[in-house]
Order: sequence, then C-alpha cells, then structure tokens
Amino acid sequence: MRKYATEITANDDGERVCVAGWVHEKRDLGGVFFLVLRDRSGLAQITLHKHKGEGKAEQEQEQEQEQEQEQGLFERVRKVPRESVVAVEGRVKSERKAPNGYEIIPERFEVLSEASQVLPLDTTGKVGAELDTRLDARFMDLRTERTKEIFLIRSLVLKAVREFLTAERGFVEINTPKIVSAATEGGTALFPISYFEREAFLNQSPQLYKQILMASGFDCVYEIAPIFRAEEHDTTKHLNEATSVDVEVAFADHEVVMKILEELVAAVYSEVANYPGLERLGVSLNVPELPFRRVTYDEAVELLSEAGEEIEWGDDLGTSAEHRLGEQIGELYFVTDWPCATKPFYAQPAAAAGEGERICNAFDLMHPRMELASGSQRVHSYELLKRKIEEKGLSADDFEFYLEPFRYGMPPHAGWGLGVERLLMTMLEVENIREVVLFPRDRRRLAP
Ligand code: ATP
Ligand code: MG
Repeated sequence: MRKYATEITANDDGERVCVAGWVHEKRDLGGVFFLVLRDRSGLAQITLHKHKGEGKAEQEQEQEQEQEQEQGLFERVRKVPRESVVAVEGRVKSERKAPNGYEIIPERFEVLSEASQVLPLDTTGKVGAELDTRLDARFMDLRTERTKEIFLIRSLVLKAVREFLTAERGFVEINTPKIVSAATEGGTALFPISYFEREAFLNQSPQLYKQILMASGFDCVYEIAPIFRAEEHDTTKHLNEATSVDVEVAFADHEVVMKILEELVAAVYSEVANYPGLERLGVSLNVPELPFRRVTYDEAVELLSEAGEEIEWGDDLGTSAEHRLGEQIGELYFVTDWPCATKPFYAQPAAAAGEGERICNAFDLMHPRMELASGSQRVHSYELLKRKIEEKGLSADDFEFYLEPFRYGMPPHAGWGLGVERLLMTMLEVENIREVVLFPRDRRRLAP
C-alpha cells in the first residue's frame, strides 16, 4: 500500500514500502545515484548503487541477469526528468543523512507521467523566480514549500472561521447571488456582464442580501465568498476578485459586531500560531490581545495631523494615512465614529445628541499595514434608508428589492466584511496580495 514519505521512519528498516510523487531532485555521484521524491507530506530519498559488472565472465548466469535488471533500473531512474510523477517500491534502510532518517532501495520504479525536460520553475527553492513567472506557472509554484504552506494556512484560516462562527457562535452559513442587478454602494466599481437581453453585474459585496436575510429570523448569518471590484488598482493589496468573510447580526449594534470580529481574528491568529508549518515560512505570530484598541476617527485625524500628514476632517484615510497611523499604533486596532460622508448609505448615523447625521456607527479594523475589515450598525428604518440612498445620488427604484423587506419587520442589525487575503497576507508577512490567492485576478491577469 502506498505510504507518504513522512509515514515511513528508520524503524521500518527492512520493510517493503511503496511511495509515489514527484521527482524533486536527482544527484549522480558516479557509483551511487540519489533520487529525492516529493509527495504531499515531504521528501523521501531513493538510493541506487551502480554495479560494475563488466568483464566478469566467471559470474553465474543468474547473477548476471539480476545485475542487468538492476542496471536497467539504474538507467531508468537516472534518465527520468525532474518533476515527473513516479511510483517506487523497495526496501527501507535506515540512513541518518537522508530526509526523515531513511532511504529506499528500489526494486520497482514506474514513471506514471513524464515531465518535459525544461521546467518553467525550480521547485527546490534554490533558484528564485519573479512573482509573475510564478503566477504564470502556478501549478508548479504550488509544488514549492513556501507556496504550498501559504495555501495550507489559507485552508486552515477558513476552517477556523467556520468553526468559530458555525460551531461556537451558532451562525448560519449562507450563499447569496454573485450575479446582481444593482450596485451595493453605487459608484462605478462594478463589472458589467451581459445577462440575456439585460445588463447585470458581478456582486461587489453580499451587503444587500445579507441585510435582506436579517428579515428572515436567522439572526446571525455569514458568507465566505468572492467579491468583485472593477477598480483599476495596481497595488499590492487590491485584487479584482477577492474573498470576503461577511457577517450580519440582528438585534445588535456596531459594538456587538466589533467584539465578534476581534474575537474571530484572535481565534484565527491562535489557530495559525499553533500550526507547525508556520516555522517553514519564517514567521512568528503573536496572538493579539483582546480587546483591540479603539481610536475614533477624530483621534485618528489628530494623530495624523501631528505626524505631519495632510488630512482634513471628512477625508477618507488613504494608504499613506493608513501607514502613518499604523506606525504610531503598532498593533491591530479599530477606527470608529466615521463621518457619514465617508461611509455607504446603509451605515446608521450616530444617535448622540447634537451629532445630527455628522458621524455614523461605522468602524474599520486595521492592521498596521492596511485595512482588514469594514463594518457598521445598519440603518433599519425604511424611510431613513430610502432617504440616505437618494442623498448619495442613487435611485431608490433600483433598490426596491432591497428596500421592500424593511417595510415588513426588520430588526436592528449590524455587520462587517473582512478580506480573507488581507488577513492572510498581514498574518504571514507576505508583501503582495497575489501571493495568497491561487489564481489572482488583476488588471492584467485573467489566466491561468
Ligand atoms: P480599501 O479602501 O482598502 O480599498 P474598501 O474600504 O474599499 O478597501 P470594503 O468595501 O470596506 O473595502 O470591503 C471590506 C473588506 O474587503 C476590506 O477591508 C478588505 O479587507 C476587503 N477588500 C475590499 N476590496 C478589496 C480588493 N479590491 N482586494 C482585496 N481585498 C479587498
Ligand atoms: Mg472599507
């Protein structure tokens, strides 16, 4: 039966085993030949000894035949191109110097799929490659240890999110349409698509649908799904197709969902911090302490002005402001109490006496490097919502399907959207967001 490389140990000395995987490396030392096989778990060394059979006519016929077979095996192993897929059967021999403390002396060697001689990438980590080259040959880039670990951790993060929300907090996981008729927040950042005789769009956020579901009585819902943004960004933190964890909670305000968000982020950090493969990325992760620091928008503007950043009250925080603030604060933090004008129509204006509709109950979760999430308490009054849509210069008619449920019993609610890639790249100290997406979509890249 096939075993993974790390399932075999020096204690299996003398056992017959079968392994299968990719030809990671080949080393020819004249009389001895090493083939390093790589599978999902790690590396296994296959060792062959060359027999010098020439001119030994006195040897018995039987022995000669055996040697010929071995010689054939030797040649076949020597010739197989790197990154071919092979299956090897043989005996385990304990060997201190080999990976995992053993080598396999092969008896059978089968090439299941031969690779072309010239490879698009080196998979051993010895020869580096540009990100573009790696993304062009992503299938092969995924064979390198670093890239593989990033995506195993991505899977772990999604598992931790689901465990936290579904198992621990009783959330209902939902799926909302990605082909939609209206923009979430208006604006131009939408990909139009042709939908039979009409125009439709790819969803920029599940916002409107998760809010509609607040009228269902599910109370706590979440979705992990793609969001599409048509902005022509060319930055290291923007994608045109990203993955968002979106949460919406009924009978809750912004304070409640900020607490859920910080607890979720801490839970994900601690899951990843305990993952053994993290070491291989050279990352040491500190699980953030709760609660995260809260900085009001006013305080942020003050801090930024003091630091020499040109900013006026009412401005959004741009990249440079994000960096300045991040440097000063140095840990995960929330920016709260945003001016209404900087946030979408669905953000609930603050109720504080005299505040009017100057500021709203919205927040951003920030990593010192960038924004990770945005959220707010939502407007749940039909009249106010309709007015706010119109005040943003949008047509309430376009939002009829969204507004309707607000007329038939809509509980107060709040929620947020958290970028999976941003969370991952900041946790793993990855520079470019494209590194943490299998097949990134950006201004120039539509394949693979
Ligand atoms: P930014 O200002 O940083 O571009 P945003 O405020 O436009 O982000 P939101 O609409 O608030 O983004 O979306 C919620 C979260 O989804 C963001 O905090 C971010 O983590 C993620 N996100 C949004 N747009 C993108 C994108 N183009 N690429 C990657 N992640 C994104
Ligand atoms: Mg935002």
